[in-house]
Amino acid sequence: MSTERSTYEVTATRKRPQDFDRLVGQDFVVSTLENAIKENRIAHAYLFSGPRGVGKTSSARLLAKALNCEKGMSAHPCGECESCRAIAKGSSVDVIEIDGASNTSVNDIRAIKEEIMFPPQSSRYKIYIIDEVHMLSTSAFNALLKTIEEPPEYIIFIFATTELQKVPATIRSRCQQFRFQLISQDLIMKCLASAAADINIKADEDALFWIAKEATGSMRDAYTLFDQVAAFSGDHITLQKIREKLAIAGFSAISSIISSVLSDDHKTAMENLSGLFADGVSAEQITKDAADYFRTLLLYKEGIRRTDILGSAIQDIPEDIVAMLSREQLEAALKAFLSLYRDLRYSLSPRFEIELLFSRLASLPDLTSPEILVRKIEDLKNGVAEGSVVIKKKVQRIIESAPAEAVISNEPEKEPEKMEEPQLQQPEQEEEETEAPIPAEDIAEEENRPFSLSDIPAAAEMLSKMGKTVAARYLETVESISENDDGSYFITLSKPLAYNNLKLAEKDVSKAISSVMGYPVAIKLRLEEKKALTDDDFSDDMKRLKAFLGGKLIKTENAGQNTPEEWKGAGNYESIRNVEADEFDPEQP
Ligand SMILES: [Zn+2]
Repeated sequence: MSTERSTYEVTATRKRPQDFDRLVGQDFVVSTLENAIKENRIAHAYLFSGPRGVGKTSSARLLAKALNCEKGMSAHPCGECESCRAIAKGSSVDVIEIDGASNTSVNDIRAIKEEIMFPPQSSRYKIYIIDEVHMLSTSAFNALLKTIEEPPEYIIFIFATTELQKVPATIRSRCQQFRFQLISQDLIMKCLASAAADINIKADEDALFWIAKEATGSMRDAYTLFDQVAAFSGDHITLQKIREKLAIAGFSAISSIISSVLSDDHKTAMENLSGLFADGVSAEQITKDAADYFRTLLLYKEGIRRTDILGSAIQDIPEDIVAMLSREQLEAALKAFLSLYRDLRYSLSPRFEIELLFSRLASLPDLTSPEILVRKIEDLKNGVAEGSVVIKKKVQRIIESAPAEAVISNEPEKEPEKMEEPQLQQPEQEEEETEAPIPAEDIAEEENRPFSLSDIPAAAEMLSKMGKTVAARYLETVESISENDDGSYFITLSKPLAYNNLKLAEKDVSKAISSVMGYPVAIKLRLEEKKALTDDDFSDDMKRLKAFLGGKLIKTENAGQNTPEEWKGAGNYESIRNVEADEFDPEQP
């Protein structure tokens, strides 16, 4: 580090306004305070609220200076007298700054209450600046309340807070309130340019644009980031250096990856993406930059041209991609990246997730929104009603099984999957299956697809997902399904073990099936009775018995009528036919 750097004053401090004219972006606050001072209308409590880093504390100090300047109370304090200099240095004995975040207790407030009994030592007013006042405890607020209700003539409180809603209404109502605004990107850029000029550093406009955008309206954040960038930039700040040193993907890098994906050049896209990772850009940063990209495109599509809202220079916006994608498609992509950003910290491999999502973007142009899908179905229905569209049976079934409600009820979390939503095929008119036009009301009638054996694998998978893995395994052994008159379904199982296990989880089974079918399905489990038993159905003892007798064990209608004694005594293997497997007790004599 050079000596020059070691004496480098932090820009936020160096650029701290020393009079109201220098306070940027808070014109309303400034003019109101200036007028009040001019007309000698001084309140005993002020409350400055607004986002961080927009000038609240600076304004509080300016106000203190204005009130205590030795050359007379003025909106333009001299800046040279003892008081002005002491306040600027933070060493004035009559201007007491308290951090509400670390002095939250009622004792701290009691100390203040005792202190205010003593008049200012050398100034007109004794001024308390309490920052982050919302952090005070309730009892501290109550103690404070009594103090600000009737303070001595010479006491002035200036409270500052980033969270106005956390300041009790009783306090708020006793203060003169000022709301500070976020500072515009243009204004931040101007201040940054001036800060760069002050220290003889050249700064490219796109670099300052990026810093101003990142600062999101906070002048202090902008200066802090500026210092960070200036530290590694030498005598010239460029966007390229910022990208390299701060490991940011940036708009153009994301733009080129997405262009490659959309033109089906996955190889280039994945190579470029891999390059970003190699440069040390984090998964979060790539996701954030991609979300930023789609947000910009979406706003541009909606006709917004102001760069401070777009967050990007107009010439960087890829017109071809904006033209290629619909508003809904851009929204879907933005939502997908936002949702990925939320999920990243739970991910096994953030990198895989990002690669997967980028690769899925290839199908973005095919994405149909539920609204468009509904409109297409409506058009089709109307076409059929008018006779202008002749429909073939298969398409009719698709329309019937895809009611508009079902399409709309897609869960928002499933966003990436949504991109693969199939689009309805337009019916081909010259099909040999073609039939006469179908009346519209027939199509409108929505009938649920019947539950059948082919739905079992999906239902079993659903059960697994619900954590019922044992039941899922047994559900796969279902032999047959039949519909009852009341609309419920008989699910028939051949193995008692499967039946018993599914019976235990009957509610979940029904839930899983309903979820797969998309409508509530009532089920009744049934154990198939008349069926020849195989060797697997018998215990080892029974198998030994079978081997001993050299016969065949068959479960029959008459099972249970004969006792083991009877057939043992008879010695006739035929009688074994009538023995239920579980009635055989080898312990019996
Ligand atoms: Zn002065």
